[in-house]
Amino acid sequence: MSKQSVWWPIPVESSRWFSEEERRVSRRYHDPIQRAVVLRSLSQGLGVVAAWGLIASRGPSVAWWWVVAAVLVALAVPRLVADAWHEFVHEPRFGESPVPPAAFAITTVGRLAIEGGLLTVAFALLQEVGARSIIGVACVAAAVPLASGLIGPRFVLMLHRVVDVPIEHEAHRHVAALAAAHRLPVPRLVELDKASFQGTNAYVTGQRSALTVAVSSRLLSGPDALLRHVVGHEITHLRHRHLLWSAAASSISLGLTVAGALAVTMRIVDGSERLPVLVMLAAVLSQPFRLLLAWLSRANERQADRDAMRYAPVAPELIKQLHLSDRPLLEPSLIARWQSSHPAPAERLEAAARSTRGTPIA
Ligand SMILES: [Zn+2]
Repeated sequence: MSKQSVWWPIPVESSRWFSEEERRVSRRYHDPIQRAVVLRSLSQGLGVVAAWGLIASRGPSVAWWWVVAAVLVALAVPRLVADAWHEFVHEPRFGESPVPPAAFAITTVGRLAIEGGLLTVAFALLQEVGARSIIGVACVAAAVPLASGLIGPRFVLMLHRVVDVPIEHEAHRHVAALAAAHRLPVPRLVELDKASFQGTNAYVTGQRSALTVAVSSRLLSGPDALLRHVVGHEITHLRHRHLLWSAAASSISLGLTVAGALAVTMRIVDGSERLPVLVMLAAVLSQPFRLLLAWLSRANERQADRDAMRYAPVAPELIKQLHLSDRPLLEPSLIARWQSSHPAPAERLEAAARSTRGTPIA
């Protein structure tokens, strides 16, 4: 068994695991997406600066709705353009069917409503808030990721209209055996609705009780060894309470970001200009936390991969097929690696090969 630390990556070239053609296909798909992300963030940043300039030029008594609308437009328009491009131009180019326009419109309006509401609340707070209430506001903000991290996955199960996997399916045996190996109660095993989820994936919800393992139809009908391995990976997340730790870490990060951004904003600007400054500061302050959370997540994934290899070993070639079926970014740049919640595909394959002392297939 490899003694590699879960905190650090195994340095490995993606060419060791993926052919030139596989990497070329991945670049063709991901390069435009990465450019779109950079352009979107840049436009949002410039948009907020422009909104700030407009608000400042109108004097201290600008109507609240005007301030909220200016910041909301600056944030939402670049994202709307990027999302529409992704759904209706980029995905169809690769043979994926675009989301129905009605669903896209509903999601967009819903998001705008939530963000508009949050900005209005932030604006109201900025008028009223004193040094003491900053802590209160930060605590309320911190409660959001904790609640959504713990309750959110249950909603995802509902959205995917999960159904119980028939009791005669082999997967039940794997789940029971793996849960026993980790001294956990046997989780409920459900299948994600085919229409709402087409990829090859699985995830888990629950803490020590009400555990659920959800697997996609494609995984359930695929090779048995792969199914067992993926279930093994997911059960490790339950065993080590990764969901809880991640939610707690996000919660602390958001609380600190909000407290820091509020405190600095209150100090450096006054009146209506506070809203765009708060948004920019929060965006900047959240970056180091995002990198830290991604680092924590990659460590959790390495641990889950490692335990899955121990309890449910599988040929790295099968894991490779699993990765390739979901269009992964095969050659992430250094910054993409730092931002990613999962180790790079080549690293995961290398770790799998080393833990079984297998020979990688070039
Ligand atoms: Zn995982």
